[in-house]
Amino acid sequence: MAQAQRNWQHNSRYTLKGADDCNDFFQIDQFEDQSFPIKIPLEFANLIDKNNPDDPLLKQVVNTQVLLGSDEFSLSPLEDEKHAPVAGLIHKYPNRVLLIASRVCAIHCQYCFRQNFDYAGHDALSNWLAIENYIRSHVQINEVILSGGDPLSLSDEKLQALIHQIECISHIKTLRIHTRSAVVTPSRITDQLVSMLNSTQLNVVLVLHSNHANELSDQFASAIKKLKEITLLNQSVLLKGVNDTVQILSELSIRLFDLGILPYYLHLLDKVSGAEHFLVSDESATQLHQQLKKKLSGYLVPRLVRDENAESKTWVEAD
Ligand code: SF4
Repeated sequence: MAQAQRNWQHNSRYTLKGADDCNDFFQIDQFEDQSFPIKIPLEFANLIDKNNPDDPLLKQVVNTQVLLGSDEFSLSPLEDEKHAPVAGLIHKYPNRVLLIASRVCAIHCQYCFRQNFDYAGHDALSNWLAIENYIRSHVQINEVILSGGDPLSLSDEKLQALIHQIECISHIKTLRIHTRSAVVTPSRITDQLVSMLNSTQLNVVLVLHSNHANELSDQFASAIKKLKEITLLNQSVLLKGVNDTVQILSELSIRLFDLGILPYYLHLLDKVSGAEHFLVSDESATQLHQQLKKKLSGYLVPRLVRDENAESKTWVEAD
């Protein structure tokens, strides 16, 4: 087994899980267990300033501020399961389907809209035959999106097998992979993964999920350079207290572009229960976006979007 693969698997085993691990690691006694269990990979934890309780990376993984629940927030704001004609496949738009490729994530983000998702009932790998039949019978589908959880929590071997099965469906031209693992555990970008993504006959789009320039470590920078042959995009979630300033969003866009990644989407928060304190109002988000447009070149300004099923259609919808 290659060293990089060993490193990644070692790193994924040794993550901070729960309040006790965090209190030990950060040498304080302020963390408490919470409904979406704390999970922080060491590669990410090492980027957190231990002396700063307001560190923007820390705030994403630990609920330090719990607000009273609001009727606007729910356990499953997007109700993905309602758009699953077969288990493990979500079909909202005619030309593309999303597969729940894994229930596992390298990190638990406290704003995650899928934190209450029925993963047990929607595992794409174990339901592959039904999924393949569905895709083959819908020839208008030309793009498959791997999501989760995080598809890069699968081993390279499982991912390779899945990509090969997708490649065998002749009307699929594009493979899109959404991942936060590649950002928070750069050791996940193994040579085998790079070779797999560079060699598939499908057009590959890798959508990285990064919310703050502090997440983009030197280790990530050197790993992501190996993926220059494929299309690299980023999507962020606009999070109060984490990245809701023009300065922070500008730094993120510029750093991404330096690494060959286009800032593509800036998502408004999906209103999942427990994430109330991350909400940036529509008005503030619009103002922020306008200021960003004045400050940055157009290609550095991500599109401000809201996922479908949210109450307003004023915004561009993300997919
Ligand atoms: S990595 Fe993505 S899917 Fe996993 S907890 Fe974070 S936001 Fe949710």
